[in-house]
Amino acid sequence: AGTLHVVATPIGNLNDLSPRALETLRGVAAICAEDTRHTRQLLSHFGIEQSLVALHEHNESGIAERIVARLQAGESLALVSDAGTPLVSDPGFRLVAAARAAGIRVSPVPGPCALVAALSVAGLPSDRFAFEGFLPAKAGARRERLSQLAGETRTLIFYESSHRIEETLGDAAAIFGADRPAAIARELTKLFETVLSDGLGALHARVAADPDQRKGEFVLLVQGVADDIEAKTAEGRRVYALLNAHLP
Ligand code: SAM
Repeated sequence: AGTLHVVATPIGNLNDLSPRALETLRGVAAICAEDTRHTRQLLSHFGIEQSLVALHEHNESGIAERIVARLQAGESLALVSDAGTPLVSDPGFRLVAAARAAGIRVSPVPGPCALVAALSVAGLPSDRFAFEGFLPAKAGARRERLSQLAGETRTLIFYESSHRIEETLGDAAAIFGADRPAAIARELTKLFETVLSDGLGALHARVAADPDQRKGEFVLLVQGVADDIEAKTAEGRRVYALLNAHLP
């Protein structure tokens, strides 16, 4: 049987595509890609012509079986997403699970990942952290999720889009407290890369005041609460009071 290579691609700077990633993408029979047009552009930048198979969240369950059959027939394939590491807030989980269940070798070609890149420069505790992916888009559900996380002692990491970053920072400041240390990592590895660290209230004010700070792609990191019972109880009381005021 062939191998499924799970290949990380750049999150901005194309030079972050590793030599081994290039070699792998050149050598496989085909590449499963989240958006074939997007991946075609990346490949043509490196002069690679490859056959591509679309694998996105809407067809993944259906197509995984066919891809596994190709692997079982002896073809080696690669899996990429539009940016960074596949399966991290990106498609691929179902395919990888199906391949592993079928006894196929699944091998990583590690590389860029926005959450790890952000954590490595944020200056927040990094020994223990919790990646929360994207918060719910609707305000009510988003606030509820944040409230559930108010007592978390690990550093929290979120992905966020440009059109919600201001709102999310406002909600986070209200629920976690304006003084909670946090950071936003914007446009990492790109021209307008900016990493801001401050209390959530100050970060919210900064982003609200400057439209440029709302452009691009974001990782939001929030320090956890101090790991002692007193802090937890105080935080719990504060959040309870907030929720009581906001919920019907
Ligand atoms: N698989 C990717 C990874 O490994 O990081 C993440 C894909 S997810 C669909 C896209 C989100 O990742 C963006 O909305 C943003 O929150 C974050 N992101 C991706 N590239 C980024 C960058 N260059 N700077 C900051 N955040 C980025």
